[in-house]
Amino acid sequence: MDHDPENRRRLRRGVRGLALFMIPLLLVTGSLFSSTQAIRAASYCQVTYTVTNQWPGGFGANIVIKNISSSAWSSWQLTFKFPDSGQRVSQGWNGDFSQSGQNVTVKNLSWNGNVAANGTVNPGFNGTFGASNPVPTEFAVNGNTCGATGNPTPTPTNTPGTPTPTNTPGTPTPTSTPVTPTPTPPPSGERVDNPYLGAVGYINPDYAAEVRDAASKVGGTLGQQMAKVANYPTAVWLDRIAAITGGPGVTRTLAGHLDAALEQASNSTLPVVITIVVYDLPNRDCAALASNGELLVAQDGLNKYKSQYIDPLAATLSQSKYSKLRIVAIIEPDSLPNLVTNLSMAKCAEANSSGAYVKGIQYALNKLYAIPNVYNYIDIAHSGWLGWSSNFGPAADLIASTVKGTDAGVNSVAGFISNTANYTPTTEPYMTANQNINGQPVRSANFYQWNDYIDEASYGTAMRNAFISRGFPNTIGMLIDTSRNGWGGSGPQGSRPTGPSSSTDLNTFVNQSKIDRRVHRGNWCNQYGGIGARPQANPAPGFDAYVWIKPPGESDGASQPVDNDEGKGFDRMCDPTYHGSQQANGGNLTEAMPNAPLAGHWFEDAFELLVKNAYPAL
Ligand code: BGC
Repeated sequence: MDHDPENRRRLRRGVRGLALFMIPLLLVTGSLFSSTQAIRAASYCQVTYTVTNQWPGGFGANIVIKNISSSAWSSWQLTFKFPDSGQRVSQGWNGDFSQSGQNVTVKNLSWNGNVAANGTVNPGFNGTFGASNPVPTEFAVNGNTCGATGNPTPTPTNTPGTPTPTNTPGTPTPTSTPVTPTPTPPPSGERVDNPYLGAVGYINPDYAAEVRDAASKVGGTLGQQMAKVANYPTAVWLDRIAAITGGPGVTRTLAGHLDAALEQASNSTLPVVITIVVYDLPNRDCAALASNGELLVAQDGLNKYKSQYIDPLAATLSQSKYSKLRIVAIIEPDSLPNLVTNLSMAKCAEANSSGAYVKGIQYALNKLYAIPNVYNYIDIAHSGWLGWSSNFGPAADLIASTVKGTDAGVNSVAGFISNTANYTPTTEPYMTANQNINGQPVRSANFYQWNDYIDEASYGTAMRNAFISRGFPNTIGMLIDTSRNGWGGSGPQGSRPTGPSSSTDLNTFVNQSKIDRRVHRGNWCNQYGGIGARPQANPAPGFDAYVWIKPPGESDGASQPVDNDEGKGFDRMCDPTYHGSQQANGGNLTEAMPNAPLAGHWFEDAFELLVKNAYPAL
């Protein structure tokens, strides 16, 4: 297989949305006391309960349980009480959830009972509520209270005159140490640290309509699950000049999306965050064909990019009526990563030697950072592309030097995004890269090819540290595109494992334990994946959000040649009958779904599969 660190990997992207509430409710901490052990009233557990998403009648919640006792737990049982009788758990993950009246019990699963001292475990659930959705305040683990002190739940409201408040002044300050910092409203004109925190995601009405249409055609249980996707925010891809300025085939321009976002904001007490993808560099998608674009370096592409794409983009975003929106700009997926690994391809070499990618990105960052409510995040590909040390360091160097070359230097970005439009899991839950099987590390298995990172959580954390060590502030936050990296359900390569394999053969162990069901991590086009974690703010330390950049159901590329006026080519990595190359995917079949339309076009079969294989289930 492909050990070649120079392998090229590709990602794709997406858009869409409805408004989900990312309500960061921070929570609680507790010192343990037990009536029979008052003398040893040592702390036992801390619990952070976060309502990550909320929509009419439903919500998602994330729970972080921390073992703050001095010894490991071999099993755990969390109990808490919903304050309102209408609150119900409908579906949980990373724990066995049950509910009796308002009392909820969550027991460890077979594989996550062990929690080291200072370790954490992270169950979550989707639920429903009646009149209101208050945050529980009393938690216990193994019978030991971790309980709340004070009322640390912020009530999100808008204070007139303050642009983006997420806390009501006067909310009592928690007397315990909050695990998650409480977001504080920024002074006027200043950016918040995390634009997703305390904000509602923009729902792209056109994508939502496509989803609802597909759902009503299918009907039944699957149709109901499909319809739920319309309630989550997705990104808006500005994949050509006309997406900004208007033109044939463009049903809603950028201004149209921003106006729709303003309308959604008018129905919300929280600010709306809209995520756009800046994606039109000359020689775009230089190592592949499926997402080739309209501009070429050789045809004055860099100047056209600046004057016909970035300038109108900045002019639109900077209109004062949009100043109350939070606008996240995902900057040019795949571009700088291609300059690290794919200079053997003529189009990438030209993008490099002309400086078009670096100069184009610097121009974009300068123009966009000048707009105070815009937050730039730069694409860092994914672990299966840049995880080897021979790629990782050079990528961090190139990206850091590109950002440092802007007017505002390291401040011109809010952070970085990985896995844009790819399928790499956020975590491989049943193994770690350096765990030994029969004396050999997991990362040395055929599937990982000695890559240092087997998932996006570990990769994103390492990249964040790499940027901080290169002079970036420690306020930078990472994003992961989780729109298609869930890997639930089943596909041609079998079903999602439910625990680690017991095999002592390394490759068998990895193949039976990994949730990433691809035959090779280089396969990137229209995979048999599943929708992943729902969009949410502050999912883990150092991570600003999980976001859905690629709208689930939009194609990565056509499975056969299609005449078109979008500049899109036919990439055989999207052809299910093709065995890629040694470099691209170890010469394996591409595992792309058949009958796929052009990149970005609606692909019904893929959407149904992604919904069926969603994890957590929809
Ligand atoms: C395509 C874009 C499209 C995006 C989102 C990309 O692969 O090239 O045209 O907007 O995916 O689906």
